Amino acid sequence: MGLLLDLLLPVRCVVCGAPSRLLCTACLAGLRRLGGPRCARCGAPTAWPVARCRECEGRRLAFASARSAVAYDAAAKAFVSAWKERGLRGLAAEATDVVVEVVPRPRACAITFVPPDADRSLKRGHHPAETLARTLARRWELAAAALLERPRPAPPQRGLGLADRRRNVRGAFRARGRAPTRVALVDDVYTSGATAAAAASALRKAGARHVDVITFARAVR
Ligand SMILES: [Zn+2]
Ligand SMILES: [Zn+2]
Repeated sequence: MGLLLDLLLPVRCVVCGAPSRLLCTACLAGLRRLGGPRCARCGAPTAWPVARCRECEGRRLAFASARSAVAYDAAAKAFVSAWKERGLRGLAAEATDVVVEVVPRPRACAITFVPPDADRSLKRGHHPAETLARTLARRWELAAAALLERPRPAPPQRGLGLADRRRNVRGAFRARGRAPTRVALVDDVYTSGATAAAAASALRKAGARHVDVITFARAVR
């Protein structure tokens, strides 16, 4: 039945609605790549390369670097929400292509992902960060491993200020065993960096010395 519906219903671009592919050529080209000068630490786009920026200086971040493929603008939001809420698996391949295009392959022993919150992942039935980590692992020929878990359900981050976000995710993650020395940590979106920092902190406690965060999109202030 699913296949029949796929054949009958025209595929529409999840960003602009044009009948074409899941992500039409124009919308794919229009995603704002973050390949220019940036903060070496948190990946915020800057006028010229800097070691730390206004967004991250003075913050204790457990990761060594964060890199994202595109700005989390209206188009990227439409893309990510279709990917998350409608579970369109074809979008993982599109996201992987854009990440590989913009973000250099990390020097890592393993690639892992921010684990889903138990309740919410059940509703969606799939987990974009894990899918992205696994497809990137294949493209970059790295080992994929589920290194983290959530010891308790996480309260939603949406609508919270920065300080509340940090408090909210502190202790939210736990390593499932020893972590390798160098780990690439994948998530779909980098917003305040609080989730990435908390997940990286759990990896560091489990033995990782160097964690590079990679996300598809990044909020740009
Ligand atoms: Zn489009
Ligand atoms: Zn920064």
